[in-house]
Amino acid sequence: MMQELSPASLLTDSIALSARLDEDWSYDPRTGRYRAANGRFLSGATVEATIDGRVNRTRSDLRALTASLADGTLSLEQWQVQVRAEIKRAHIRAALVGNGGQQGMDAAAWGRVGWRLREEYRYLEGFAKDLLEQRVSVPMALARIGLYADSVRGSYWTGTTIRQEKQGYTLMKRILDPQAQHCQDCLRYAAAGIVALGALPMPGQRCECKARCRCTIRYYRSQMP
Ligand SMILES: [Zn+2]
Ligand SMILES: [Zn+2]
Repeated sequence: MMQELSPASLLTDSIALSARLDEDWSYDPRTGRYRAANGRFLSGATVEATIDGRVNRTRSDLRALTASLADGTLSLEQWQVQVRAEIKRAHIRAALVGNGGQQGMDAAAWGRVGWRLREEYRYLEGFAKDLLEQRVSVPMALARIGLYADSVRGSYWTGTTIRQEKQGYTLMKRILDPQAQHCQDCLRYAAAGIVALGALPMPGQRCECKARCRCTIRYYRSQMP
């Protein structure tokens, strides 16, 4: 399993994935902006909405797999294999968007995806054990599998931060989602205002809401806005 998460192997997966997906966006490192297939620039909000849409799709796919496990259509092992594949695809796609496509994915970027997936697989191992020992009800299992979809957002933000750094952004600001509930940590990170890039954790990291965190990041160049 470790072999399949090496940077080289993830790159191969991502090339197969892009070919199959007909990516409907491209990234222009010169302007630091994304373009739609029709050549129009995409706003940051549109890109974030795309990620949200994908997270939601991943969540319903993972729930469907978990429902199939509950009704006996899938064995625990089949479920685990398919959930792993789904999680892997979702993180690769989110990282590709964040980093600005294949061109932005260097060995370090693939290494970060591999590291994140290893962590997710480890959580999934624990989840599978709880299911096997029948410690989780079906509604609990459906809620818990949703967290694996939410955490995909983290791969997008990690990639985005690296990409923005390459674009000369040196400052960041944590933005709370007005629709979401926030833990004390997120409130504190937001209250810090504009800080040096990397001075605050990525959304979902080192906070109580974890994968449920709906915070976003704005980036600034050293000139204060
Ligand atoms: Zn939080
Ligand atoms: Zn948050």
